[in-house]
Amino acid sequence: MKVFHISAECYPVAKTGGLGDVVGALPKYQNLLGIQAAVIMPWYDKPFVRDHKFEKVYESEFKQGSQFYSFAILKETTNILGFEIYLVKIPGLLDRTEIYSYPDESNQFIAFQHALLKWISDQNIAPDLFHCHDHHSGLVPFFIENAEEFKSLKGIPTLATIHNAQYQGWMGWQQAILMPSFDSNKWGLLDWDKNINPLASLIKCCWAYNAVSTGYLKELFKEANGLESLFFSEKEKGYGIINGIDEEIWNPETDPFLHKNYSVRTVITGKKSNKKALCESYGLDLELPLLAFIGRFALEKGADLLPGFVQELAQKFTGKINFIVLGSGDIHIQEALTHLREKGNTAVIIGYNEKLSHQIYASADYLIMPSRVEPCGLNQLYAMRYGTIPIVRSIGGLKDTVTDLSKNKANGIVFEEVSLRNMVQAIKRGLKLYEESKVFNKLQRENMKLDYSWKSSTMKYIQLYENLINRL
Ligand code: ADP
Repeated sequence: MKVFHISAECYPVAKTGGLGDVVGALPKYQNLLGIQAAVIMPWYDKPFVRDHKFEKVYESEFKQGSQFYSFAILKETTNILGFEIYLVKIPGLLDRTEIYSYPDESNQFIAFQHALLKWISDQNIAPDLFHCHDHHSGLVPFFIENAEEFKSLKGIPTLATIHNAQYQGWMGWQQAILMPSFDSNKWGLLDWDKNINPLASLIKCCWAYNAVSTGYLKELFKEANGLESLFFSEKEKGYGIINGIDEEIWNPETDPFLHKNYSVRTVITGKKSNKKALCESYGLDLELPLLAFIGRFALEKGADLLPGFVQELAQKFTGKINFIVLGSGDIHIQEALTHLREKGNTAVIIGYNEKLSHQIYASADYLIMPSRVEPCGLNQLYAMRYGTIPIVRSIGGLKDTVTDLSKNKANGIVFEEVSLRNMVQAIKRGLKLYEESKVFNKLQRENMKLDYSWKSSTMKYIQLYENLINRL
């Protein structure tokens, strides 16, 4: 079975969050089970792309509006990631350093999808199934069914994975002129609320969709940034498949980013060495418990509460806890946190830093996630794997993976509503647990042994592929 994953991100080529982690891991585990899974993504000017050898496997051109673009498909030559990876390079559109946030982003992703489908149909290398990830590949199911240019691909099954329904890729109808020409009777399949909405089109046109946790699937029917009624009306083709973690990358015994590697057996001394190095670098107190936040500064993540939270910690928990924050995003949150970075035992690092994130998971005692929306959440899984206790708001994938101390099979601290009061309350419980060091260490060790690997989810994806392909 041959499957093409189409995505804007794939670790370690380019990543801003969970999408990159998933697309960098799932195809690898699928290949180990005998599926031929490859990834197609845009070309970015990133270290991985500069440091690895790529060969040109195809070149051509296409028309976007009145403009002609030439493009090339570049394949990584060594299969170093455990799957084939193809980059779509389009000078003038897909030849930049950042993944998102350019003013012509919609042109970029239309062009990405146009170019890759042209390559696949021209070369007769159609897969058995297209696996589309989020809105960046949301037009693929529509194009293969309705664009004359890709009629050889018509009828190929498509699966859509929803990593985050908050971002939908909206664009005005004037952008339709930039698309490969399609059957004009079918415009309704692109439309949502009088705009072109690639995520809505993906849900309408795909053969099946899956949310990245069963909890998130149910939430999509109630809250999906305007698409809840669509998810609900298409619920017969909806599934929930929880993400796993790439145990080759996220393993404290072998992680090359750590100051000291450690196992379940050596977790206490191992984490202490890492914590010492981190505390020295950021002026924190080794003797105090270390709480961490890693992530995007967005409302979804509850990051707007962080500045107030830092002040609460400084006032109510003076000399009792360290807090380290790594992230970037909303400029107001960034500024407020930068302003507060000297408060109490607090360190704030603004930016995206993969290596530092691993070091923080390895050093911290607790990781806090006050999320309003959390489709799956990988941070809490990495935290557990590294012996760090998650303190989370009960939502989406966090609800599916973290069980409160008060319950059977507890693995963390859970609070219900997003508020400073609840966060402070949860920290109090955390500090109490920390004092009972034997119970705390037992929990750390048990969490490290939990199985959040890709094993069972890889099988679920393959089963779903088979069901879709067999429907033909
Ligand atoms: P998201 O909604 O952002 O995709 P996830 O929990 O699914 O959230 O995945 C977050 C991933 O991004 C994790 O691998 C996390 O460690 C990483 N990450 C988030 N922010 C940063 C940052 N500032 N520096 C390094 N890694 C980060």
